[in-house]
Amino acid sequence: MDARSAKAALIAGNLLYQEEKVSKADTSTLRRAETARTGQKPFAAIVSCSDSRVPVEHIFSAGVGDLFVIRTAGNIIGVHELGSIEYAVGYLGVKLVVILGHNGCGAIVEALRDRQVKGAAAVIIEEIRAAIGSEDSPEKAEVLNTWNSWRQINRSPLVEQAVQDSGVQILAAHYDIYSGRVEFL
Ligand SMILES: [Zn+2]
Repeated sequence: MDARSAKAALIAGNLLYQEEKVSKADTSTLRRAETARTGQKPFAAIVSCSDSRVPVEHIFSAGVGDLFVIRTAGNIIGVHELGSIEYAVGYLGVKLVVILGHNGCGAIVEALRDRQVKGAAAVIIEEIRAAIGSEDSPEKAEVLNTWNSWRQINRSPLVEQAVQDSGVQILAAHYDIYSGRVEFL
């Protein structure tokens, strides 16, 4: 599926989710057996926050084998996430990568707080702080953080080449945990 069709499929799936319409997501035993046997061909890769209120497959009414999903607190991109994206693009033939931020993000709230974070989580908070600079509005910080991740993805030479040669698109989007709506930025 090309990037344009993949985006249209995500938007259509998200509309169903917002309207609580019956999902067309195929999670049947048949689909499970088929994808297990023949391999995965996801139509998009989504990078989202690990927040439990951002249930990626539900948000896009997606079934087994539809989406290649990478989740980290604050939807930040490190080397493991970037490697996963390169795999999706280079080996699975995914043409659309979406970095999906959201409102009410706890990682952003923590980054805006003036206190030290302990342990490995400090790496996440420092990444977000560098991305948002002196911004103190959570809403604006969320968007700045999403664009930072977008830039990190585009920094990969393999991704850059796929964008130029294979029609791969990297898009940024924002998810509203109240309405369930995904807005492409
Ligand atoms: Zn979050």
